Amino acid sequence: MEKLDLLKFIKRKSIYRRIIYILMIAMLIISRLAKIYTNTIVTVIFVVFLTVFSILEYILSQMKSDASDTILYGSKWVQLYAVMVFEYFVSENAFLLSATGLLAIISIIEVILHKMDFDAFDITVKKICCVLPAAVLVCLMYGRMSVLTWICYFIYKICSYSIAFYIVAFYTDQEKMYRTKNNRLLVENSNYESINTKLLEYQEKVEAVNKQINYQKIDLNRAYRDLEETNVEIESQTELMKYMASTFEVPKCINTIIDTIIEVKKAKICAMYIDKDVYMNNLPTCAVKSFYTSMVERFKQEADAIFADFSSDNYYPKLFKGEQIRQFKFIGDTNICAIAVLPLIKDDKKYGYMIIGSDKEKFFDKGFAYYENCIMQFNISIKSTLLYLQMRSMARRDGLTGIYNRVYFTELFEKAKASAKKYDYKLSVALFDIDKFKLVNDTYGHLAGDEVIKTVASIDEKYAERCSGFACRYGGEEFLLVLPGKGKEEALEILESMHEEIKSTVVNFQGTEININVCIGLSVYPDICDNADILVARADKAMYYGKENGRGRLVVDNPEIDKAIG
Ligand code: GH3
Ligand code: MG
Ligand code: MG
Repeated sequence: MEKLDLLKFIKRKSIYRRIIYILMIAMLIISRLAKIYTNTIVTVIFVVFLTVFSILEYILSQMKSDASDTILYGSKWVQLYAVMVFEYFVSENAFLLSATGLLAIISIIEVILHKMDFDAFDITVKKICCVLPAAVLVCLMYGRMSVLTWICYFIYKICSYSIAFYIVAFYTDQEKMYRTKNNRLLVENSNYESINTKLLEYQEKVEAVNKQINYQKIDLNRAYRDLEETNVEIESQTELMKYMASTFEVPKCINTIIDTIIEVKKAKICAMYIDKDVYMNNLPTCAVKSFYTSMVERFKQEADAIFADFSSDNYYPKLFKGEQIRQFKFIGDTNICAIAVLPLIKDDKKYGYMIIGSDKEKFFDKGFAYYENCIMQFNISIKSTLLYLQMRSMARRDGLTGIYNRVYFTELFEKAKASAKKYDYKLSVALFDIDKFKLVNDTYGHLAGDEVIKTVASIDEKYAERCSGFACRYGGEEFLLVLPGKGKEEALEILESMHEEIKSTVVNFQGTEININVCIGLSVYPDICDNADILVARADKAMYYGKENGRGRLVVDNPEIDKAIG
């Protein structure tokens, strides 16, 4: 770098040359003072030339254009040749000759180094161009001075040119070294740049991969959350399924479904409505749970109307959003904004619905299958419940008459006895048997007999229902009427009324009219019998007493019977 700066200095400033000019002027003055005269006019012209040249060079060096640079370079050649010409004229003046010698060395260096690109051929050409006029000058000088002086001059020329060439060689070497170093640095730099570019590329790739990983992380998190939600839903449905399989109590199942949906799905309202006679229920069943307490009552009032509205619709779930939900009055001024109504279908018939409401508009956009699964499980549950209830009813009832059979009577009577004992209730038991029934069978046939049995049974059941008791076919044509809470007087009144009805009933079988009568035995706990466990036996005894004493009678249990029958 330093050498290049020097070159720049040579090219642009040329201060050193100005020093040479001053030196030359000084030499000129010294030679005058030393009375070494020379061609005065040539010297003056040369000095003026140098001065003007110097000023011109300075101006040109300040101008930064290619043209000015070319002129500057040309001027250097002119100057070099001018120096040689001047030498010719001042050859006898050693002082000026020395000064021009120095100027020549500087000029040679400048000429060679100017616009230097250190091309060896170019330098050689430039050197030859410098040497040739000098050789001519040396030849011309031969006649003008003594041989010894000429030889000195010749040696001086060789030395001055050698010095100039040596300096040029020194600079070019330096420059080459610099260039080599610079090139190496450039190569290293480019290497570093390529490494840097690669690093940047890697960095970009890593960033892109990082971004992707982040996206995947988000996706994974979302998937994990969804999976967790699904897990919770599956677990809750498994629990529901287990619960519904373990019970035949439909209202409890409904409440469990509602509770689960509210808890798992965070719905603001969930309700279920089941029409009457679906699972042997006499009245519709409606259950509702809501985040808003007042909504529960409002829904119950509207539940029947909603069922009536939707029972004619298609069989698919319906979603209501925005203004549509205003048709549901139970919403009131709450912020419910999405409602789903799912029909409950059994044997292609709608038997109820489930309704779910939320304060989030997109609540039903995902996970809707959860509700459908709940309903599917409920449908299975209600079918098996109905089957169970029908089986149980069949097991409890008598096949011919439809009233309770003796097996179920025993179960019911145990409960009635326990309650009577526990709460000190009265308990009346009446046992009655159709009089001369064998004769009916024998006279009109068994089918006619069956008709008679059915007629008596229906009267028995009518009185049981009317008096909150229960009726049962105890055996062939023997029946029981149990009246919990009824004392002797009340029971007598009821039984007399029933006896009257039986007596007045005429069974019509295929055009034949059959009159019937029964014999009734009554025992009452604790009015007559203080042991509830033998109430049926006591009633039986009273009835038997009646049979023995003329039939068609209502006999109240009393100690006399024991004495009479034994
Ligand atoms: P009593 O006045 O003493 O009671 O005379 P009875 O003829 O009614 O005598 P009993 O009670 O012994 O007769 C019962 C008869 O009822 C015997 C049996 O054939 C008949 N029987 C029992 N179950 C049925 C039934 O389901 N259908 C019909 N047709 N007959 C039945
Ligand atoms: Mg009998
Ligand atoms: Mg009989």
